[in-house]
Amino acid sequence: MFFKSLYGVFSNDMGIDLGTANTLVHVKGQGIVLSEPSVVAVQASTGKVLAVGHEAKRMLGRTPGDIIAIRPMKDGVIADFETVEKMIRYFITKVHKRKALVRPRVVIGVPSGITEVEKRAVRESAEQAGAREIYLIEEALGAAIGANIPIHEPAGHMIVDIGGGTTEIAVISLGGMVIADSLRVAGDEFDDSIIKYMRTQYNLIIGERMAEEVKFNLGNAYPEKAVETMELKGRDALSGLPRILEIDSSEIRKSLKEPIDQILEAVKHALEKTPPELAADIVERGIVMTGGGSLLKGIDKYISKECGVPVIQAENPLTCVVLGAGKFLEEIRSISKSKMK
Ligand code: ADP
Ligand code: MG
Repeated sequence: MFFKSLYGVFSNDMGIDLGTANTLVHVKGQGIVLSEPSVVAVQASTGKVLAVGHEAKRMLGRTPGDIIAIRPMKDGVIADFETVEKMIRYFITKVHKRKALVRPRVVIGVPSGITEVEKRAVRESAEQAGAREIYLIEEALGAAIGANIPIHEPAGHMIVDIGGGTTEIAVISLGGMVIADSLRVAGDEFDDSIIKYMRTQYNLIIGERMAEEVKFNLGNAYPEKAVETMELKGRDALSGLPRILEIDSSEIRKSLKEPIDQILEAVKHALEKTPPELAADIVERGIVMTGGGSLLKGIDKYISKECGVPVIQAENPLTCVVLGAGKFLEEIRSISKSKMK
């Protein structure tokens, strides 16, 4: 008995948000101890991992030809098992440092679209990194728990989590997912849309980093009176020479319309599929939005207006999932067994 309780105290229960853009780790009693880009730098010729996380992202675009930076979770599915394994192992080991002889219990938030084979790969990497018990939880459920939504109530709650690679849409009631949809349109797609727009409208080629910066500064989904502008640095597609172009926020809104409308359609579709009683709850309580992509200016207002349902931004959109994963272990008993695999 005594040893068992000691074990509990020092077990360092961990919650992990294995996001397509960012990986976060929460340790019980310590809070969020790690938040790094889900990026791995690999030597192309040998396959050797050179860096993970911040360090790997810093190498992006600044590396000699032989080094490539991989985002192994990019589309919410695991494109590259080996790299994902290395990444998970690196992050868990970094946090855990194989303290004492204790092996942590780990809860990992994963996109709802991942296959059984992918789940096994995630589980095995966590095991190899020293985890004792491993639970996988759908990101949307984690986001709901982390956003303090009372998911165990017999009432409908809708979560829309817009990440980097995927948007997760879920209707939750009585601790389980009644509806789950995962689409591969999210923050990355916003960046791509800006890149395409500049290319077709202005013959201007811009990089991913520039596109993301434009999105942070001028990105918006709903018309506002104040129009903002910024200078865009790129390369002229015809002359091949560097060029600077001034662009305003109303144009950026236009460039983002397509992916935003794809998300909107998916939300509408989920609402249509929702049983009427639960739909009524959602209309009353509002849709809760999480994920970095939900920080796009006006996206809440736009979706709310188009669906006729209030939209509430979570207080901590970037950390909901990991906080929820952390809390999950404490809630484990009350969550329906079917959700734990
Ligand atoms: P994931 O869970 O897939 O790792 P995150 O929830 O961490 O994704 O969100 C990452 C995405 O959020 C990226 O596409 C990033 O560009 C976007 N993002 C972060 N902050 C903002 C912001 N202020 N405005 C618009 N997009 C943002
Ligand atoms: Mg996420």
